[in-house]
Amino acid sequence: MTHPTPEQPADLVARLRATFRSGRTKPVEWRTAQLRGLREMLTAHGEDLAQALHADLGKSSTEAYRTEIDFTVREIDHTLEHLDGWLRPQAAPVPAYLGADATAWTRYDPLGVVLVIAPWNYPVQLLLTPMLGALAAGNTVVVKPSELAPATSAAVARLLPRYLDTDAVAVVEGAVAETTALLAERFDHIFYTGNGVVGRIVMRAAAEHLTPVVLELGGKSPAFVDRDTDLAVVADRLARGKFLNAGQTCVAPDYVLTDPETARALEPELVRAVEELFGTEPRRSTEYGRIVNERHFDRLGSLLDSGRTVTGGTGDRATKYLAPTVLADVDPEAPVMREEIFGPILPIVTVSGLDEAVDFINDRDKPLALYVFTESDTTRERMAAETSSGGLGLGLPLAHLTVSDLPFGGVGESGMGSYHGRYSIETFSHRKAVLEKPLS
Ligand code: NAD
Repeated sequence: MTHPTPEQPADLVARLRATFRSGRTKPVEWRTAQLRGLREMLTAHGEDLAQALHADLGKSSTEAYRTEIDFTVREIDHTLEHLDGWLRPQAAPVPAYLGADATAWTRYDPLGVVLVIAPWNYPVQLLLTPMLGALAAGNTVVVKPSELAPATSAAVARLLPRYLDTDAVAVVEGAVAETTALLAERFDHIFYTGNGVVGRIVMRAAAEHLTPVVLELGGKSPAFVDRDTDLAVVADRLARGKFLNAGQTCVAPDYVLTDPETARALEPELVRAVEELFGTEPRRSTEYGRIVNERHFDRLGSLLDSGRTVTGGTGDRATKYLAPTVLADVDPEAPVMREEIFGPILPIVTVSGLDEAVDFINDRDKPLALYVFTESDTTRERMAAETSSGGLGLGLPLAHLTVSDLPFGGVGESGMGSYHGRYSIETFSHRKAVLEKPLS
């Protein structure tokens, strides 16, 4: 990036590997300097990034700061505060036969050169949060922003080199061809966020070099609504979680699972909740985002007749506006239930009760998140114990991923591995086993 002509992937990786081999990235002072540099960039150029996010996704400034810029700053601050503690060697008890003078511990070694491949839906947060974790762990990093958020990709490529060590951090912009070329190289870790089809391509490429991967994928995250819950509160929280970023959130509640009676009572509450969030004409709301491109707009459009429209159902291809939509009486086999929606459509599917809901969830791919709205301890415990998902939100969607001390990641089809806070250090380090037996 400091070079007049684009650097070939092999040269780029060799250059970053040489930096790593020099030992420069290992001292904690270097790591914290990078994190401070990144923080300064986000503070000084928050507006530039917010404008880019608006250009790419119609994101409001409030949303851009809350879910991307300030989110990343908080992760930096949390890491700066705790990094020394996280890196401290952990003593391990030694078996007696090794003698009383033997000691053992683990230490965190950085891996080397990390590749971070990011998607378009939160193009700042999902690029920079893994990157800062990799830097905090003492690695060099190549970041590949999504070509589907071109303004953000360009802004990041322009800004990062001004604030970070350019011998240790590089931005490679581009699409399939550029990513494929990068994936041919040997990295020491690949961190990929996006869909499972590409996840498989990444994992296959990584296997060639025995490179470890984290795959942060998606899927259909269910929201189970129990009988006898406060449906006004449930609807408010569901609508906020679902329609943030026009539904283009990996952990958005994908569909509602509830009994028929609760479904009927929930419908008017969702209509009200949407109206309270975005007014009677959401297209005029400055807080409501847009669909990323025409392809996704058309894909979502084809899902609109999967059920009875409770609210929304309209759109405008020219501006990529798709109304916040709720569909009722949705058949579990309907098109909207066959793929991750990743847009502002909330189908309500009915089941007879908790037992059937548990089966419904377990019959399908393990989701990235499961949300449960209930007043019953038994329901909470059964859902936690009898289903598997990347994360579990009891009473509130999305928020678990804002807790830096929780690991964020999927399971099964929703991915493997995790990050955030200390879990990023775990992911981007090798935990080396050390045993010492004094010679005399
Ligand atoms: P995308 O199209 O931006 O692709 C992701 C990245 O993969 C991009 O950088 C892209 O350039 C690269 N890519 C695309 N095709 C490739 C190929 N053939 N070879 C190599 N690289 C390639 O984003 P997307 O996949 O549409 O993202 C949406 C999906 O990501 C959803 O399924 C969503 O749930 C998931 N997601 C998951 C998380 C999470 O944290 N678990 C977060 C956001 C999105």
